[in-house]
Amino acid sequence: MKTLLPTSTAGSLPKPSWLARPGKLWSPWLLQDEELTEGKQDALRLALADQQQAGIDIVSDGEQTRQHFVTTFIEHLDGVDFEKRETVRIRNRYDASVPTVIGAVSRPRPVFVEDAKFLRQQTTQPIKWALPGPMTMIDTLYDAHYKSREKLAGEFARILNEEARELEAAGVDIIQFDEPAFNVFFDDVNDWGVATLERAIEGLKCETAVHICYGYGIKANTDWKNTLGSEWRQYEESFPKLQKSSIDLISLECHNSHVPMELIELIRGKKVMVGAIDVASNTIETPEDVAETLRKALRFVDADKLYPCTNCGMAPLSRRVATGKLQALSAGAEIVRKELSAS
Ligand SMILES: [Zn+2]
Repeated sequence: MKTLLPTSTAGSLPKPSWLARPGKLWSPWLLQDEELTEGKQDALRLALADQQQAGIDIVSDGEQTRQHFVTTFIEHLDGVDFEKRETVRIRNRYDASVPTVIGAVSRPRPVFVEDAKFLRQQTTQPIKWALPGPMTMIDTLYDAHYKSREKLAGEFARILNEEARELEAAGVDIIQFDEPAFNVFFDDVNDWGVATLERAIEGLKCETAVHICYGYGIKANTDWKNTLGSEWRQYEESFPKLQKSSIDLISLECHNSHVPMELIELIRGKKVMVGAIDVASNTIETPEDVAETLRKALRFVDADKLYPCTNCGMAPLSRRVATGKLQALSAGAEIVRKELSAS
């Protein structure tokens, strides 16, 4: 990236109300068949236009073609039975009825590659594509086949690597793996989580990112955050291993959260996607709010490695609020760029 402080989002943007009901996660599609295919592409174009008009530097599909950041990927795989469901605890936080792994998992065909090609056709800007991380994938399933978290995660890493190589060939510049589970299962992260993630990026020449957050602004997450105390030090557990890994960028939550900014010091040398937009609030940040968060981060990350970003995805927000937040992110980054070039 030649641009200083290149802006991007962590992932999802709200969908238009004619495609899926707004204000909801996992919202079912309102169109079918060919209309749905066209509708998703139209929504992708709108999400892209919103990012471009706001001046976002690294753009994405806004996850318009998927219902859920983990499940939509898994739905395309063999070995998982979505009819056979068991109740499990997701990230030690809430119970959910989840599909069952009933046999060897595999990817019979590419999942997002056509969507990524479509996005690539629409813009010459750098594009980032999000995939679920292996540890977060196993956490949304009941495993009746491998009966080993590490083994199933390893199989998913192999599948993700196949998908990632094809996304790279389709012209994706940055492939991001969403691993909110890294903020919960610290022993697993250190024992095999980071190593498994590295298997997912094996052989890639494009840049790679991992996004670790405190989740969307939904009730189960907000309740969990209320139990975490005044300082959120979860990143302290995964950062030392990630600092030594071959992942290029690390995306984290910084604005309005209780994450002590100095934890960024632990990933010195990595590019840091600093979350400067709170996705759990409808209040649109001012550009100065964003600038202030970026200035604080600059004490621990070199300017050429600072990537202003959102804390997490914005799918549950209204389009008006999400667009306002994109504009604030862009304007806030511009304030700090000017300060850096003046000093
Ligand atoms: Zn997130």
